[in-house]
Amino acid sequence: MHINDAVFLEDLCPKFRLRQWRKSIHRFTGKSCIYCGKPSESIDHVLPRSQGGLSTTENCVPACLSCNGDKSDENALYWYRKQKFYDPRRAMAIRAWLEGDLRLAIRLLQWANTNFKVKQNYEKDESEYKAA
Ligand SMILES: [Zn+2]
Repeated sequence: MHINDAVFLEDLCPKFRLRQWRKSIHRFTGKSCIYCGKPSESIDHVLPRSQGGLSTTENCVPACLSCNGDKSDENALYWYRKQKFYDPRRAMAIRAWLEGDLRLAIRLLQWANTNFKVKQNYEKDESEYKAA
């Protein structure tokens, strides 16, 4: 388990800002796991911190505890391809997210999950993040 991945940056960043940032990450996907669509309870480092992954929005995705723990230190896209819930649209979304194209990532996630409810103000969230 890599529960530690869910608690990060606290020593680098004021807690309030960190909390806002974490919230905005979850908001991007309507609080659903980017991998499987279940409620996101944690933030997963796509490239694990043990491999030099940074705590940036591009490298941090909302994930449920099950995916976060199961993925562990594996390459996210490689791990994801092996999952029962694999969906190529989500894989594309993850890739777009990593490239910093959150808008495309969100559109792909909406396409993958018709129940996906996203707040219309995600663009605002994005600018909030950039201002932080
Ligand atoms: Zn999941």
